[in-house]
Amino acid sequence: MNVNTILNVKGGDVVTVSTSTPILEVTKTLAKFGIGSIVVTKEDGTLAGIVSERDVVRAIAHMGVDVTNEPVSEIMTENIVTCDRNDSVDKIMGIMTSKRFRHMPVVEEGKLKGIVSIGDVVQQRIAEAELEANAMRSYIATG
Ligand code: AMP
Repeated sequence: MNVNTILNVKGGDVVTVSTSTPILEVTKTLAKFGIGSIVVTKEDGTLAGIVSERDVVRAIAHMGVDVTNEPVSEIMTENIVTCDRNDSVDKIMGIMTSKRFRHMPVVEEGKLKGIVSIGDVVQQRIAEAELEANAMRSYIATG
């Protein structure tokens, strides 16, 4: 199973904001879509970074609520780790676990094609495990 299997189910929509978006707006967008992370894009649409709810919480804890008037570029992570459609689910799960983040944008030829979260990965692994268990059961039943 690879990233493409996940994107076929959830689609390729990605919520983005521009680098100048105030952090307060980012919190509203996170809440509106019920997501934990947003990809930040430059004016030309290329990737600038990623911001997660954790970045917002950390910024408020360190600098106080006034930081929410600052642009998201102040708190986003610039070095984004991305994946492509052909990457295996196991591989991206390993990367997310070792690097301790829960989101990976899917990028091909510099273009955003989707985003995969640790929740999507876990769901996919459970579906796989259920398929295997059912195959085993019918193998045993039919002898
Ligand atoms: P998360 O666990 O995804 O909420 O993010 C935890 C931290 O990792 C935050 O500082 C994010 O900005 C950062 N982060 C999230 N996803 C990525 C990614 N794909 N590449 C690099 N950093 C990331």
